[in-house]
Amino acid sequence: MLLIFGLTFAEDTAMFAAWEAVFEANGYSLEELEAATNEIARSSTPPRTRAEHLAEINRIIRQRRRNQGVVNEDLSAKEVFWTCPDCDSCGWVTVPHPKAYVDGVWQPPFWSAAVTCHCLRGIQRLESYRGGDSGIQVPMSLTAYEARFPNWREEWNRFVEGRRKLVKALDLSETTEKLSSRATPNDLP
Ligand SMILES: [Zn+2]
Repeated sequence: MLLIFGLTFAEDTAMFAAWEAVFEANGYSLEELEAATNEIARSSTPPRTRAEHLAEINRIIRQRRRNQGVVNEDLSAKEVFWTCPDCDSCGWVTVPHPKAYVDGVWQPPFWSAAVTCHCLRGIQRLESYRGGDSGIQVPMSLTAYEARFPNWREEWNRFVEGRRKLVKALDLSETTEKLSSRATPNDLP
């Protein structure tokens, strides 16, 4: 695979790690992957993008399993319901906006931004922006973002925790107010 495709982008290392997770979730063996890679190498219409390449690997292995009568329902189900914990498989991850940091700390009013996830869906999203001449800016990937802001998850959690405390405090004030307003008439002489 590496030989066919070559490592063009810095994100490719992370991408292959994501591919590996997909292969593992689907229970692909090394033999199956080698066979699929060989078939792609011989193909007269090879995949043009990374997302197509991965889709082709999946398609060939599924086809071979069907031909050999070894389709395992559990594995198929796993593949369908394989979800990414970072983006819920939507391909986008919401992060603190790069311009909203001051000295590495996310500042109010806590602007956020979306970056493409490291998973298959995220890779597909990123691919869809690359190679086009539409002039649309290619989004930042989570890998590139994390290289610049390695502490973003701590900043995000600090924000969520702050919001949670604020809501609790507001709830408490409201409850207290209700109690005091209810108590007032009885206190009247
Ligand atoms: Zn994801």
